Amino acid sequence: MNPFVVGNWKMNLSLEEASTLAMDLRQGLEGVDGVEVGVCPPFVWLPGVCFVLMGTKIRVGAQNMHWEKKGAFTGEVSGPMLKDVGCTHVLLGHSERRHLFGETDSMINKKLKTALSLGLKVIFCLGERLEEREGGETFTVVERQFTAGLEGVGQEALPELTIAYEPVWAIGTGKNATPEQAQEVHGHLRNLLENKYGNETASQVRIQYGGSVTPENAGELLAQPDINGLLVGGASLKKDSFLKIVFTTQERMRSPI
Ligand code: PEP
Repeated sequence: MNPFVVGNWKMNLSLEEASTLAMDLRQGLEGVDGVEVGVCPPFVWLPGVCFVLMGTKIRVGAQNMHWEKKGAFTGEVSGPMLKDVGCTHVLLGHSERRHLFGETDSMINKKLKTALSLGLKVIFCLGERLEEREGGETFTVVERQFTAGLEGVGQEALPELTIAYEPVWAIGTGKNATPEQAQEVHGHLRNLLENKYGNETASQVRIQYGGSVTPENAGELLAQPDINGLLVGGASLKKDSFLKIVFTTQERMRSPI
């Protein structure tokens, strides 16, 4: 199973900056092997980025979508639209969607099922807030998000799923989880996957870590047995830092110790 490194550009970059970054990644990642790489630009830049990255192995994902396929939902974007434009992936349940825009577990579950039914691959984000970690509720929170988010999702869909553990207190704060803190939760998520889908299926699902990932901390995070990739926000906006993270991942796979 190759690790999966994804850049979440959030609501950043001008048209020119997004095009330049996509072109730089196209060139910079040409020879990369043994790592799957993706980017999630803002909706409006998706057509251009898909065009620039066409014919490469770099995946393009959206940062969100609606659960209905079409209709009177002003301001929303549907799964079929994402497929039309060339997206292979979609991020769902990002903490900014949950906490700034009130997305509930049940909304995320509906989106997840629609995306999978359309053949979009899903990066399903979950993670606890600072007060929940400090209150000793981390496992309870991620378990609730996991169970509700994947309700009604069968084993056959699991090859299309990546889970991203993103502790909210680590996102955009410069304070990443330690490799041990992350591994503890990733190990728990792996157990939850095993209980729901069986050992073999669970071992094939990639669990990314996200939260203040940098070129400096990527290697030690990836050294953990249940960290199978990274979801990168701030450090994915600059060619040099994102490429360094991808190359560190590649090195780590070639010489795991
Ligand atoms: C994210 O947006 O998912 C994220 C992890 O952001 P950052 O790397 O900036 O903390």
